[in-house]
Amino acid sequence: MGRKCAVNDCINNNSKHISKSFYGFPRDSETCLAWVKFCGTKELELVFFSQGPEGLQKLKMCSDHFGPESFRNFHLKDKGLVNGAKPVFPAHRFKETVGEYVIYHLD
Ligand SMILES: [Zn+2]
Repeated sequence: MGRKCAVNDCINNNSKHISKSFYGFPRDSETCLAWVKFCGTKELELVFFSQGPEGLQKLKMCSDHFGPESFRNFHLKDKGLVNGAKPVFPAHRFKETVGEYVIYHLD
């Protein structure tokens, strides 16, 4: 059993996708709310508005949703995210994997 990424439609799971990194939800309210809205699930918003970031500490989001500037070390994503990093890439959107690189096509 692993933990699934909290983003709606994202199938990444920390036991099946060991090449991805997974991050706990930020404790900073403003950043946490941006993550919650990005997830696209009403249930998470309800938890956030009733309990704040504290209620979401068991959730994880995977590295697929963050741009290069969000990582402390782009080549070692398990080193974590910079403070205030917000997700930008929805699940599976305009994305292809070439070798070890993931290329995002933005329109
Ligand atoms: Zn994900």
